[in-house]
Amino acid sequence: MTVRVRFAPSPTGYLHVGGARTALFNWLYARSEGGVFLLRIEDTDRARSRPEHTQAILDGLSWLGIEVDEGPVFQADGIERHRAHAGALLESGAAYRCFCTAEALAERRAEAERTGAGHGYDGRCGRLEEAESRGRAEVGEPFALRVRVPAEEIGWVDAIHGPMSFPAGSIDDFIVLRSDRTPVYNLAVVSDDAEAAVTHVIRGDDHISNTPKQIAIYRALGLDLPTFGHVPLILGSDGKRLSKRHGAMSVLAYREKGYLPRGMLNFLALLGWSPGDDREFFADASELTEAFRLDRVLKKGAVFDLEKLAWLNGRHIARSDVSDLARSVLDVLTEAAEAGGTDLAATHPTIQTDAERLASVIELVRERPRTVPALVDQVSPFFALEIEYEQAAVDRFWKRPDEAAGALRALESELPEVSVWEAGPLEAAIRGVADRLDVGAGKVINPLRLALMGQGVSPGIFEVVELMGRERVDRRIATALGYLDAKTAMA
Ligand code: GLU
Repeated sequence: MTVRVRFAPSPTGYLHVGGARTALFNWLYARSEGGVFLLRIEDTDRARSRPEHTQAILDGLSWLGIEVDEGPVFQADGIERHRAHAGALLESGAAYRCFCTAEALAERRAEAERTGAGHGYDGRCGRLEEAESRGRAEVGEPFALRVRVPAEEIGWVDAIHGPMSFPAGSIDDFIVLRSDRTPVYNLAVVSDDAEAAVTHVIRGDDHISNTPKQIAIYRALGLDLPTFGHVPLILGSDGKRLSKRHGAMSVLAYREKGYLPRGMLNFLALLGWSPGDDREFFADASELTEAFRLDRVLKKGAVFDLEKLAWLNGRHIARSDVSDLARSVLDVLTEAAEAGGTDLAATHPTIQTDAERLASVIELVRERPRTVPALVDQVSPFFALEIEYEQAAVDRFWKRPDEAAGALRALESELPEVSVWEAGPLEAAIRGVADRLDVGAGKVINPLRLALMGQGVSPGIFEVVELMGRERVDRRIATALGYLDAKTAMA
C-alpha cells in the first residue's frame, strides 16, 4: 500500500505556523514512507476563501521546500460528488431529510438552555415516516440531510494517541448537506479523502471531535477508513493556545525577519515531535525525513519558543553553504542600498566582485548571528565605505572619549610597525599597546572593535583586524579619532 497523505488548508488567510507544521508532518511522513503528499485547498467557504490566500499558502510551502506531489485540488470542484455521496446516504437510510428550520432549531436551543436540557438535535425528523418525509420534499419544503448516528461507541486507533473513542449517544445526528444543497465540511472531507485514496489523515487535535462523524460517514458509505493521527496543538510560552500575541504569524513573515527556510523547517519539526534522543539540529529535510516517525509525535501540546527558533537558525547559519549565505547577504545589502537611492557598488565597493574575500568574511563572522540581518551587520563593515557607530556601544566603550582616543592613537602609531599582517603578530602588537598604556587589553580591544565594526560585538578582534586589511583599519581608526576628538572638544 502506498502511503497517501494530504494537507487540506482553507484559503482564508496566510500559511501560519500551525498549518505549516501540519503540512510538514504530513510531508515528512510521506517522504519517510516513500508515499505521496497531496495538497487540497478547502475553498467551500466562498465568502472567506480568496485566490491570494491560496497563493500565499503555495508560497509558504515553497519557501520551506515542502514539495507537493499532487494538486492542488480544490474542494469546491468536487461539489457534485459531495452531493452524490449525500444522496447515497439518504438512499441507504444512513441519512434522513430534516425539515427543521434554522429558527426552529435556534428556538429549541434557547429553550434547552433555559431548562438545562441537552443542546443537541433531538432526532425528530429521523422519526418521520418515509412517506411523509418524501411527500414534504415533493411539495417543495426545504430540507437538509442529517446523518443518523448509530447508537454505538465510535472509536479508532489513532496513530499518535492510540485508541480513542466516543461513547454511544455522545454524537448527535449531524447535517451533511444544507437546505441550499451545499455540503458540510465533514462530508466534503470524507468524499475528497476517499476520492484521493488518502491512507493517513494527519491533522491538528482541534479536529478530534470531527473524526467520529467522519468515521460514521465512511462506514455508512461502505468506504475504507484511513488511519487518523491527531497532532498536538501548539501552545504559547504561557501554555495558552498559540495566537498572534505569541508571535504566531505567517511563515513568510519569518523569511522577512531573516530566518533561513532550513532553520524554520527544523524548528517546525520539533513542535510536537522529537527523534527520541536529544538531537535537535537537523541540517536539512533529508535528515528530518530519515529521523521522522509518526509514532514519535508527542501527545501533549508543543510550546512555541522564539528563542529556540533563533538559536536553531543561528546553528543553520553557522552550517549553511557559504555561497548561499553570500547570496542572501548581497540581496539584503542591495535592497538597503536601493532603498537609500543608491546602489551596492557605491555603498560596498568590491563586495560583488571579490567573492573570495566575501566568503572569508562570512566564514569568520558566521558563528554568532542568528538571523540573516544580524549576519549582514557583521559582514557589512568589511566592505562598507562608511559605517555608523551603534549608540549603545558608543555609550559603553567610548564613554570616556579621551581615553578611547588615547588607545586608538597608540594603535595608530603601533600598527604600521607590524610587518606581517596576520592575527598572531597583530595580537602581539595590540596587547603590547595595552601593556604600554598600563591598561587591561579590553581597554584597547573594545574601543578598537567599535572603531572597526561600528558595534560592540565581532568575532576575535585579531582575525577581524587581519581580514579587514591594513588600509581599511588605518582609515577606520582615523575616522574614529576624528569623532572622538570632536566629542572630547564638546565635553
Ligand atoms: N480545512 C481544515 C482546516 O483548515 C482541515 C481539514 C482536515 O485536515 O481534515 O482546518
